[in-house]
Order: sequence, then structure tokens, then C-alpha cells
Amino acid sequence: GPTVVIIGAGIVGCALADELTGRGWTGVTVLDRGPLFETGGSSSHAPGLVFQTNPSRTMSRLARYTVEKYSELGCFSPVGSLEVATTAARLAELHRRFGFGQSWGVPSSVLDPAACATLYPLLDKSLIVGGLHVPSDGLVPTVRAAEAQAARATARGARFLGDMTVTRVLSRAGRVTGVATADEEFPADLVVSCAGLWGPAIGALAGVSIPLLPMAHQYVRTTPAGAADSLPILRHQDRDLYFRAHGDRFGIGSYRHEPMPVDLADLPGDAHPSKLPFTPDTFRQSWTAAGELIPALRGATLEEAFNGVFSFTADGFPLLGEAAALRGFWVAEAVWVTHSAGAAKAVAEWMVDGRPAIDLHECDLNRFDAAQLAPDYVRRRAIRNFVEVYDIVHPADPPPVRNVRVSPFHPRQTELGAVFGEAAGWERPLWYATNPPPEAPRPRDEWSARHWSPIAETEARLTRRRVALYDMTPLTRIDVTGPVSFLSGLVADDVDRPVGTVVYTFLPDRAGGVRSDVTVARLGEDRFRVGGNGPLDVDWLRRHAPPGVSVRDVTGGTCGVGLWGPAARELVAPLTDVDVSAEAFRYFRAREGHLGTVPVTMLRLSYVGELGWEIYTEAQYGLRLWDTLWEAGREHGLIVAGRLAFDSLRLEKGYRAWGRDMTGEDDPYQAGLRPFGEQPPDRRLTCLVLADTGDVPLGREPVYAGGFPVGHVTSAAYGWSVGAPIAYAWLPSALALPGTQVEIGYFDRLLLATVAAEPLFDPKHERLRR
Ligand code: FAD
Repeated sequence: GPTVVIIGAGIVGCALADELTGRGWTGVTVLDRGPLFETGGSSSHAPGLVFQTNPSRTMSRLARYTVEKYSELGCFSPVGSLEVATTAARLAELHRRFGFGQSWGVPSSVLDPAACATLYPLLDKSLIVGGLHVPSDGLVPTVRAAEAQAARATARGARFLGDMTVTRVLSRAGRVTGVATADEEFPADLVVSCAGLWGPAIGALAGVSIPLLPMAHQYVRTTPAGAADSLPILRHQDRDLYFRAHGDRFGIGSYRHEPMPVDLADLPGDAHPSKLPFTPDTFRQSWTAAGELIPALRGATLEEAFNGVFSFTADGFPLLGEAAALRGFWVAEAVWVTHSAGAAKAVAEWMVDGRPAIDLHECDLNRFDAAQLAPDYVRRRAIRNFVEVYDIVHPADPPPVRNVRVSPFHPRQTELGAVFGEAAGWERPLWYATNPPPEAPRPRDEWSARHWSPIAETEARLTRRRVALYDMTPLTRIDVTGPVSFLSGLVADDVDRPVGTVVYTFLPDRAGGVRSDVTVARLGEDRFRVGGNGPLDVDWLRRHAPPGVSVRDVTGGTCGVGLWGPAARELVAPLTDVDVSAEAFRYFRAREGHLGTVPVTMLRLSYVGELGWEIYTEAQYGLRLWDTLWEAGREHGLIVAGRLAFDSLRLEKGYRAWGRDMTGEDDPYQAGLRPFGEQPPDRRLTCLVLADTGDVPLGREPVYAGGFPVGHVTSAAYGWSVGAPIAYAWLPSALALPGTQVEIGYFDRLLLATVAAEPLFDPKHERLRR
């Protein structure tokens, strides 16, 4: 194997050395500036609580592997966990978390107060209304787990060197070549930074942005208070507290204080650089709350207390992968003890096999737009994540930093009363307040009605009946210039088609999984416009581009609309020099021309299943494009429509959203992108129609058959053309047969659902082809 230098011998660096050497890459050197293995990093102070339940399937699986591995190493106490609720809203949230556990394979149960007290006799059960018990959660002795993994790696040939501060990252021609300390060089083919909260400093040595923010967090140990090592780990999220036992003492962590971002330059230069002095004033409230929940604490005092430092990111996910800016420079940072072994395994697979075995797109170091790397953006969003760490967060709750990326249509959208949501920094209209609500809106449960409006129904119905204008600017657009053989070699279908053809296809990864779905429009002999799913697609194309091929991300410099509905042709025909007749401009074709004075690229595609075009232009012409269409649209009943209508219409048509419905873990047969032959795949993305009770899932909920969890929901929305909520879900093939009855777990309820043949609406796609 290649020579690898790992910077950092915290739990992540040690886990990675173990995983790499276990795969036969034995030329591994791990350098740490501190002494081994109490290096003074976050791992040296972490109490090691592991809660596996997470809204993200990936994060849950990283945690599950951590539990498995540390159990085998004898470095895990499976004491179980208990999260208590003191309000009805928290109890509902615990039911939702129970659902995540069912979806991702972390069994748990929701308990009443008496059962909580049986499990945890020291609780004042009059305070609580219920709890979530996860029997397989527990505690990792963090330094011992790091050491055990380092010992195994050492036995296979790895070296661990303490008191070695990396001061330079060496590179030549865009590739890393090693690292250096003040007086020694360590040549390497690959360098992995596992420097935890020091990640940004190492990144700076390599010319790579590491968007994380170190923050202080309070942890105390009490005097003896009747605790016992057999007690489950405990969370009291309504007061931002967690508890574990240290023998008969309690360890208590608090997130209740004001966020305390830390400047690396202000860390103490002593043996405990990630341990800051305790701030007792900010702990007072927490101490009172702790004594209320566990009355035995009232007689105790604090024996040890400090503010420990660890990393927060803008979206709460870790930073994993190879830097786009410096080949061979890898990162595994902002990783909790909870996810340490799982993250290390995934990164090791990625390095050795070229691909992690599970989907990591949420954690990919290269997932950010340039604006999302701005220190101010990272800081404000990371601070919010700290504040909300135990809050009940709705998936559509708005982030603290807005208007980072806006399309040129933004002023017009605002005039029309757009209510915006945010995705990847983009402002996207969810619905427009100037559209009328329906006369008799369908009832909707309180949770799914948040950041939602009945106006979506009007927008969806009028898209099907007349014509609607959607903002498509946030889609990633990549211009590729060069011989067709480049794209032909990267995508799954033949794109060597006549100029003017559009192909919907996908980027297969090494194992044939769906890395991303893309449209490829051939605009000239060697000129292609690729529509994709974000910076990871740009990176993937750039990585593979040979000399002579140019790959340009034109997302920010261009903009576009979807103009869809039965009246779309009548609307655009008089405005454009492009022949938009059914014969001259067929489905899945592209043409360049003008619309009014605006130079446009028109793609005859539709994510909503109606006649129409995606119409793109340069950003400078955006307002003019919008105004031209809007003015001409008046006599055709044109409306503006947002994401909520879009999502409903797309699910009625069965169009997959990459990242939600499918990822690199899924092959195209499973995902339903390709028809399969005789032998169905083991599992399939399946269309479900729900009983119309007013409950509308949002995604990630468990699906049950015969009382057993069998899969999970990916996307869901109310389908107005169908007259029922629609959900897409991963199910075993044996159940993915039309007519099969299943149930979806939604809070404390079970929603009846039936597998249906897809697509539900216009299955012959006649409306698209008019
Ligand atoms: P670290 O352990 O910080 O290791 C990074 C290493 O890089 C350090 O050893 C450092 O010396 C080295 N390094 C830095 N710069 C250089 C350089 N220039 N040259 C050489 N070496 C360098 N997580 C949980 O999952 N559960 C918990 O209950 C939990 N509780 C916590 C409580 C507290 C008080 C704190 C502080 C953290 C807690 N965490 C918890 C978070 C957890 O501790 C960290 O996420 C985890 O330990 C990070 O591990 P790491 O290996 O990435 O980083």
C-alpha cells in the first residue's frame, strides 16, 4: 500500500490507523503534537457517551459500527441510554426519534414515567412524562479505545510518534507529498488530517478550507451522590443536560450556556490545550435543573469542572474525504467519539477501495459552495447548531444565515409574496402568498403543516390545469467542453447522440451505485451542459477530466426557470425564434435561441410531468427573462409556483430526488431508474399511497409490515391529482408489489399505506409529449 501520514492520535486518528492497517496498508505513521495517548485533544476529556439514534441514516450507521467495534475490543459499556421528556412536545419528539431508530436499525422503546424510574431509580419521576430507552447505547472509555486501536495498528506495522508538531504540509503540482515538523520531514503518498478542532490550522498549511468552529462545552464531576456504573446514560434535553456515572459520582455535561466559540490562538499552551477554565456563573442554572431531575444531587458539590473544547460545523455533519484543492490530502474531522470508528472505517474504505461502503454525501468535505466556507457563515451556523443541539428541530426550520445565494428573480419573487426556504445557501420560494388558498383546504397535522401553506394546492393544481413558472436556478449547471468520449466514459448511458439531444442518466461510482443523477444536453459537437446535484458533481467531473476537457461550474453565472403546464407552448411560441412546435422541438431535446431579447438555452424536460421547458440564460438577463414570461403569461393564466407544489407534482410522477430517494449505495435497478429483468433486485424504491387522514410524513419514517420494521420513507407529499398523501420508501422486493398493505410509523401513530404501481399520475407520460 501507499505511505500514509495521519496527523493526530486522538480517537479518530487511532481508529483510522487501525482500519487502514487492517486493510493491508501498513505504511502508516501517526504524528501527534501531544504525548501518547492522552494527547490533550478533545478525546482526552470526552466522557464518551454514545447515543446512536440520529435523524441521519448515515450518522446512525457510523455510530452503530462504533458500538460494534468497541464492544469487540472490550472498550464499551452497554449500559443503555434514557432520554427523558418533561413536556408533551418532547415526548412527541421522542416518538419521532424512536421512528429513526426503527428506520435505521437501532431498537428502542418509549417508556412511561414509572418504567423510566425503574430503569433509573434516582429520577424524580413526577417531573417527567416519558422517556426513550435505547438498550444498545452506552459508554466508551475514549483514551483506552484510542490506545487499543493504536496497539493493533502498531502490531501490523504502523508507527505512532508523540511530541511531533506538524508545521508544514508538503506538496508538488497539486498533490501532497508529505508533512514536516520543525526538524524532520515525513514523505507520504497520502496525508490524513485527524487534527480535530485544530483542523482549520492544518488545513491552512495545506491551502484547504476546513469549515469547523471549535466551541467550549461545560463538563463537571460531582462528589459521591449515589450513582453507579450500571446506570444508563441519561439526557435531559429540555434543560440541555446529559449525565453519566463515574462510580458513585455523576458526570454532567451542559449545553445550556451562551455559545463560547474558541479562537485556536487562545487555547492554553500547556498539557491540556483543549481544556479551558470552568465558568461557574453559566453553570448555575444547569446545576439547579440537574438537582431537580436527580434529587440525590442536591447534597453533592462539584469535584472537578472544566470547559472542554470540540468541533462544530455549519450543518452538524463531520468533514470526511479528500480535499478538492490538494489531491492526496484527506480529512476526518468534526467527528464525535460516537461516530469515530464508523467514520474511520468509511474513510479507510474510501481510500483503499476508492469508495466508502455507505453513502457519505452528507459528510463529504467538498459538499459546500464557496460562500458556505466563509468564516462568518461557518461561525453563525455552527453557533446555531450548538444552541439547538438538544432542541426539537423541524427539518424545514430556517437557518440563521439567509440570502447567501439568490437568483436574479429574487426581487420579483419577493414582490409576489414568496415565502422562502433555504437549501445549500440558496433561497428557494416554497410558495407565493399572492396566490389564493383553496376554498376548502385539506386538514394537515401540526408538524407537517410547519413551513407549509395550503396555497401549495392552488399552485400544484394550476400547474396541471394552466401553466406555472418555477425557479430552477439552484440546480447545479456544469459546462463541459471537449470530446464526447469524456462524458460517455463517466455517465451510465450513451451521450454520443446528435447535437440538440438531452439524456437523463446518472454518474455510476466504482460499484455501479448512483453517485448522482444528471441531465446531459449536447449543445454542440463538443459542448455539453450537465445538470446535476451540487459541488460533489463538479468535483467528480473535474477529478476525471483529462487535459483538453474543460469543466466549468456555471451555476452562479446563469439562472433558469421551469415553465410547465398545458398552456406552456402557446405562451412561449410568440416570444421566441426557436420553433417550439411538437414536431420541431420534441421531448428530451435542447435548442438555443432567443426569448424576447434574452439569449436562452431551452431544454424540453419536466420534473412535474407537464408540457414545457427549462429555460436558462446568463444571470445578467435573468430579470428580463422573468419579466418577458410574466408579462406574456397574463393572458394564459400563468402563475408562480414554489417547492411545495413542485415536490407534490414530482412524487405524483415518481421522479427521484438524488440524496433523498437514492444515493451511491443504491443501484439503478433498485432505485427504479432502470427496468430490471427476470430477477428483481433485493430491495426497491417503492411508491406508497397513504390513507388520507391528514397526517403527511416528511421522510425518514419507518415502514412496518406485519408489525416488523421493513424499510423507511425517503420523500413524501400530498398528491392533489391523486387525492391522497404519497410516500416513496425503500422496501424488500417481496413487499414491493402493488396492493401490499404496510404501515408508516409517524410519531405515536401508524399510518396505513398501500404499495401502488408508479407513476401515479399520467403513467404513459402523454401530457409531457403533447
Ligand atoms: P482530538 O482528540 O482532539 O485529536 C486531535 C489530535 O490532533 C490531538 O491529539 C492533537 O494533539 C493533534 N494535533 C493537532 N494539531 C497537530 C499538529 N499540528 N501536529 C500534530 N498533531 C496535532 N463525543 C461523544 O461522542 N460523546 C460524548 O459524550 C462527548 N462528550 C464530550 C465532552 C467534552 C467535554 C468534550 C470536550 C468533547 C466531547 N465529545 C463527545 C466530542 C469528542 O470528544 C470529540 O468529537 C472527539 O474526541 C474528537 O476526536 P479527534 O480524534 O477528532 O480529535
